[in-house]
Amino acid sequence: MTQAFLDQVEAFAEKTIVPAASGWSMGAVPDGKIYEKAGQIGILGMQVPQTFGGQGLDFTSRAEACRILAGADFGFAMSLINTHNVALRLSEIAPGALCQRYISDLLSGKISACTALTEPGTGSDFAAVTTRATQTATGWVLNGEKTWIINGRHATLSIVYAQCAAVGDVDGIGAFLVDLNAPNITRYAIDSSFGQTSMGTGGFILRDVEVTQDAMLIAPATAFKAILTEINAARTYVAAMCNGMLARATRDAATYGARRHSFGKPLNAITSWQASLSAAETALKASQARTAQATDLVNTGEDAQLLAAQAKIDAVTAAQTHLPELLQLMGAEGLRSEHVFCRHIAAAQIAGFTDGATNILKDRVDRLITQKGP
Ligand SMILES: Cc1cc2nc3c(=O)[nH]c(=O)nc-3n(C[C@H](O)[C@H](O)[C@H](O)COP(=O)(O)OP(=O)(O)OC[C@H]3O[C@@H](n4cnc5c(N)ncnc54)[C@H](O)[C@@H]3O)c2cc1C
Repeated sequence: MTQAFLDQVEAFAEKTIVPAASGWSMGAVPDGKIYEKAGQIGILGMQVPQTFGGQGLDFTSRAEACRILAGADFGFAMSLINTHNVALRLSEIAPGALCQRYISDLLSGKISACTALTEPGTGSDFAAVTTRATQTATGWVLNGEKTWIINGRHATLSIVYAQCAAVGDVDGIGAFLVDLNAPNITRYAIDSSFGQTSMGTGGFILRDVEVTQDAMLIAPATAFKAILTEINAARTYVAAMCNGMLARATRDAATYGARRHSFGKPLNAITSWQASLSAAETALKASQARTAQATDLVNTGEDAQLLAAQAKIDAVTAAQTHLPELLQLMGAEGLRSEHVFCRHIAAAQIAGFTDGATNILKDRVDRLITQKGP
């Protein structure tokens, strides 16, 4: 892990993201310059090997950077990490011409990217994707729709998971690199009262979209396994991001509680007020400990399935439980868009869906523990 890089991420989060984020929570959209600034710091290539122009850092650094960025704005942090993840994927599995064509623009923040599994008819049940890839003499033709995709409204590139065989055949699913500005692709934004314009959430419809043979990044029979391996890392950094949000909100509420007076004394001198704050701090510490264990496992390449799922459940639950309590401690002031509370509450709900919905993860943890039992 490199402290110099993380210090730069911290400064970027404080000086650039935080001032812009209150506008994002009111519907404004991050401008291109902020992506380019993230690129200059190296955020978009933090784990990408140096031979491809990245920072070549370890997973621990990536999780730490995600934690810091999410403390400022979860949506924008997710947007950056999703572009990073596509760059990393390209460097790992398409190191040739395809990677060379796109990687410097991804790392510099000139273009963004996304990973598209979810469809209108299927989310958790990934094996049921119906987007179809049909082989032709020169490559593949894709048809289908992807929805609820981070960066979906502005990404240039997408790794699209599609079925090459019969629907439901997990060994038939492959992954394709698609230029979303190609003809026959219609995209749309998804807006909700849970803001998140900074996450760029959207979807796209593919109608007879032709891609070349080398656009198949992951061949059928390996794509399903590849996504399950990658998801342990994603669950772990999402856990770190939830911890980052809870840490920031706890710190901000503590600062406010020392400053704001009510009935002649500071808020933090009120027993029940302080008890709520302490409960958040305790939950945060427990969650951070579990996330650190999962991070170590992912970093060393050990089996992280159980701990990554547990870390995500703990961190999401702590954030979903305590962020509304912390908003309560702030009084009406906490509702102002310049504070993180409302954005973080919405983001914690979103974190409960992405990279494994909480109830499904709970069932998985039960199964893994039962398997490992005496
Ligand atoms: C803001 C946002 C950004 C996203 N970004 C991306 C992205 O970049 N790429 C992408 O591919 N997807 C993305 N997603 C989609 C996300 O991965 C899905 O929301 C998630 O997989 C859950 O699918 P679903 O929403 O269709 O819920 P469903 O699968 O329909 O589930 C609905 C509810 O039922 C529960 N449930 C379903 N099946 C079971 C079961 N077997 N056992 C127990 N409980 C069950 C779920 O936990 C959930 O609570 C994003 C979602 C959001 C909200």
